[in-house]
Amino acid sequence: MIERGIVAGEAQDEDRLFEASLRPRSLKDFTGQENLKENLAIAIEAARLRGEAMDHVLLHGPPGLGKTTLATLIANELGTAFEQTSAPVLQKKLDLTGLLSNIRPKQVFFIDEIHRLAPDVEEMLYSALEDYRVDILVGTGPGARTHSLPVPKFTAVGATTKLGSVSSPLRGRFGLVLRLDPYTNVELAGIVSRSAKILNFTLSDSIALSIAKRSRGTPRIANRLLRRVRDYSQVRAKGELTEEILASALELLNVDARGLDEVDYRLMMCLLKTYGGGPVGLNTWAIAAGEDATTLEEVYEPFLIQQNFIKRTSKGREATAEAFAYFEVPLLRPQSVLF
Ligand code: ADP
Repeated sequence: MIERGIVAGEAQDEDRLFEASLRPRSLKDFTGQENLKENLAIAIEAARLRGEAMDHVLLHGPPGLGKTTLATLIANELGTAFEQTSAPVLQKKLDLTGLLSNIRPKQVFFIDEIHRLAPDVEEMLYSALEDYRVDILVGTGPGARTHSLPVPKFTAVGATTKLGSVSSPLRGRFGLVLRLDPYTNVELAGIVSRSAKILNFTLSDSIALSIAKRSRGTPRIANRLLRRVRDYSQVRAKGELTEEILASALELLNVDARGLDEVDYRLMMCLLKTYGGGPVGLNTWAIAAGEDATTLEEVYEPFLIQQNFIKRTSKGREATAEAFAYFEVPLLRPQSVLF
């Protein structure tokens, strides 16, 4: 089996519990994303003043930046119930009908990965979002009748890593469309310190910043690194954490100075060595590197582009000269000259 890195490691139940324990419960505990928080705070306050359900919100941005956290936090701030689902789970219209028929007035209904909705399920969601009703077919054959069931006014919070794949009719039904950006190292250091406090683990500000710098702008990765580093320090160093101990822990985790893990290395080595730097199509690259194409595109590629290691061209993905230098692969032919 291929080793999983720190970035996209399978989320086990234990990981989910760990993440949930570190989730901020109010907007004031949620670090960063200032502009987004201000927009949300206004929408929440307005809904509270009017005693109505809040506008539907669509959150978009890479994984691990806090979309689920914000959805739970909106429900907390509004003092309403929270229900969560994910588009791939909603295979049939009946699955969505089941959930919508249990909706309580003003509650938050969170739909993760909303760009993956099946077309007929998506269409059913339109009328729920806009007219607060769902059409269901009762019976079969010539005697079948459509019934329109009312749904109480609620707040849908959609989350997506690919805004471009959300159809415009669906997008148009969300009153607020808000983007989450990668966090600065200082913000991430703040998140690491807060998480360490919750975990009863003592950490200096400079160590928190060192962990932050390897977290790819992502709180989920910062928290995962903190957890592994804490284990390492408790087992190998009696709970002490110096820069040296941190360095050995990170080495053992295969996380380098820029926060690249073994999966990034595998992907980049494949692109640089097997394909001489590309260009190569995404699917071909994914298969050759033994990675799932969607994970490659949504989880790894944005960071590799941001770090200026790869670029997207009309012919596929291509490594930059900086990538050849960083991964110490000799550049054997001038890029883009083909024989
Ligand atoms: P997403 O839904 O975007 O994939 P999550 O909301 O599940 O991300 O966040 C992943 C982890 O990161 C959670 O443990 C959460 O507590 C933490 N986290 C995310 N954003 C923040 C933040 N702004 N402040 C503190 N912790 C955060």
